[in-house]
Formats: sequence, C-alpha cells, structure tokens
Amino acid sequence: MTSVPTDTVSASDIIARETAHVVQVYRRAPIVITRGRGVYLYDVDGREYLDLISGVGVASLGHANPDLARIVAEQSLELLHCSNLFFHPYQGVLAERLATLSGLPRTFFCNSGSEAVEACLKFARRSWFTAGDRSRTGIVALHGSFHGRTMGSLSVTADPHYRDPFGPLLGPVTFVTPNDDAAIATAITPETAVVVLEPIQGEGGVRPLSQAMAHAISDACQKSGALLIADEVQCGLGRTGRAFHSAALGLKPDLMALGKALGAGVPVGAAMFSAEVASKAAFGDHGSTYGGNLLACRAALVFLTELTERGLMEHVAEIGEHAQATLNALASRHSAVTSVRGAGVMWGIEIDRPAAAVVQAALERGLLINRTSDTVIRLLPPFVITAEEFTAGIAILDDALTAVIEEKAS
Ligand SMILES: *Cc1c(COP(=O)(O)O)cnc(C)c1O
Repeated sequence: MTSVPTDTVSASDIIARETAHVVQVYRRAPIVITRGRGVYLYDVDGREYLDLISGVGVASLGHANPDLARIVAEQSLELLHCSNLFFHPYQGVLAERLATLSGLPRTFFCNSGSEAVEACLKFARRSWFTAGDRSRTGIVALHGSFHGRTMGSLSVTADPHYRDPFGPLLGPVTFVTPNDDAAIATAITPETAVVVLEPIQGEGGVRPLSQAMAHAISDACQKSGALLIADEVQCGLGRTGRAFHSAALGLKPDLMALGKALGAGVPVGAAMFSAEVASKAAFGDHGSTYGGNLLACRAALVFLTELTERGLMEHVAEIGEHAQATLNALASRHSAVTSVRGAGVMWGIEIDRPAAAVVQAALERGLLINRTSDTVIRLLPPFVITAEEFTAGIAILDDALTAVIEEKAS
C-alpha cells in the first residue's frame, strides 16, 4: 500500500509536498480537509468548520451523505464505467428525470459545467450548420459572466483576467452589459447563432438577470431566430428553491448547461437540448469517454430523488426565506453591507470594501465562505442545511465582519 496515512502526516508536510509538485493555479487557504459530515468539514488536526460554500456549490446533499455513500459503494461493487460504446440502465432514466424537470427532452452527459457549456456551444453551431446557414456563427454573452475554463466556455466568459493569457479565443463573441436592454436588441442579429447567459451570475457576484433584460433577450432571440443557452450550472437544479431560475424569469432556453449540485460531489455535467436542436445532431458529432458513466448517473439520481420526491426543493425554498430575513438583519447591523442578493441557498453579500479579509476572518472562526467579484461574500451552502445551521453560520459571519471593520477603523 502506498496510500498516505493522513493522520500521521502534518498539515505543513501535506502543503509542502503539494506546493512542490502541483501546478500553482489555486491560491488555497492553508488548511487540509480530510473528512466531512453534513454541513461540517474537518481538517487534518480535527478542527471543525461550518461549510457555507460546499465545494463551490457541489455538495448539495451535504458531506458524507449516507444514502449517496451507500449507492456509490453499491454501484462501485457492481460496475463503475462501461463507456458509451454500450447501453447501461441509468442514463436513460436520468435523462428522463432531467427532461421532466426542465422541459428539454434530450441530454448529453459530460463531467463538468465547462463541458456542458462547451457541448451547448457546439450543438448550437451544429444546429445552424445542419440548417444550411453556415454564416450564422456569432455568439452573444454578457459582461460579468462566467461559463468555465475550456477554450469554448472561456470564450464566452467576460473576465479579462481569465481570458487574456489564452487568446485568440473562439469568435465572434459580442459581450453586452447585463441590464442594457437597448444594447441587446442591436447585438442579437441574423448572424447570431446563440445567446448564452447565467440566469443568476454566480462568479460575477450573485447578480440575478433583471426581468426586463430577460424579456429583451427573449424578444431579440425570437425576432432573429437566435438560440438561447441558459447556464444553470450554479443557480439551477433547485438551488433557488425552484427547479431553474431561467423559468422563473420567463425564459425558454433551447439549450441548458448543468453541473455542480447534480452529482452531489461525484463529477457530472449535463447539456440539455430542445427537440429541435437535438434533431440537428448526428451520430459521432460529440462524445465523452467518462460522460454519463454508471457511478455518475447513480449519484445524480440520488440527488434528483431527494430534490423532487423527498421535499428537498421545498426545503431550499423555506431556507431561502429564512436566509433572506437573517441576511437582511445582518445588513441592518452593518453599514458596510451595501446589498444582499440571492434566493434559496445562493447568496451574495456585497460590502463596501474587498471581501477577502472577511473570508479570512470567517475561516479563523471556523466558517467557510468565499469571495467573488472582489467585494461580494458568497454563500452556497448545502441544500440540506437547516435554519439553525444557517443562523449559526451568519452569527460567525457577523463576528468576522465586525472584526474586519473595527480593525480597519482603528
Ligand atoms: C462553475 C461554473 C461553470 C464551470 O463548471 P466547472 O464544473 O468548473 O467546469 C460554468 N458555468 C457556471 C455558471 C458556473 O458557476
């Protein structure tokens, strides 16, 4: 056995080894996580953390969920993977469940959110190619967007910090400022193949698309015939207390990207298509070695069963009400809080200064949150969090905010 016995290795040894050998693209907090249970994580020294970021929106059922663990273990003893050369019992069931939830009848399975966005972009282009409209290749995206890190998904991600080192990227992509409904009407033209948007921008600071902008985009897509991709990787699948936030905005996407919460910790991505878009694809157009493997499908089915049959979506909606009230109260105690945005288990708390110090102060107090868009504290707790656990987390955040604000003032 060559496995590293974590209980005999110190955090500093683990960090030193990784720092020497892993490509340095992550600015990690200097703690080593070894296990979890529900909304709590534990580090190598046994310290407990209340986790309100859940692996960036992934651990939807909490950590070490016993039902998920049992199914994953059972499936591992049966079969993990058989490739897409053959059928297995679970892809069809999962696609059917996703179709019921979204109204989009066909799914392509992949392994991450970026891959799902990538598949949506490819199938949108494919759709116009099949229709014989070869010049219709333009893409419209929004400023503040984040759609992933692969070349295609990066090409529709606005942040120059992510983009600039990797050009030239896929084009032509036109970026429009969210909530500039006049600009969207001119940006979407008969050359636009597809418009891609996050119904609530996640990495961009938990910013919901306005109803007016959603209408403007729908209208412009209808007029020009452009397709619409809803990137629901972060905000979708019940995170807001509703199945999909695009539906809440009255949008009817032709394509949808899913990931994060879907596998509850097992990597799963899904790209969903309308019958029309799917009908334009042909055998061999796209594929994935791992995509839709048995393990991934079983995990996603556990999540969807909890969400739609065991009351988890309703639970998230209730937690959302509680969260709104709790965060409004937090904002009323701290003038540094300038805005609270979100729903369900997706919240952004904007402050009048960089949020990194607050994230650090929270970590020191045993609370895991993160910062996005510089001045926004983001919360993506597990869907299963209780009102008491949420309140406990916000009490720690309150304390962390106070400490940071007082330190700055003194
Ligand atoms: C996280 C995220 C992605 C990328 O997902 P990965 O699994 O990291 O590839 C894409 N779109 C949105 C909206 C996301 O939040």
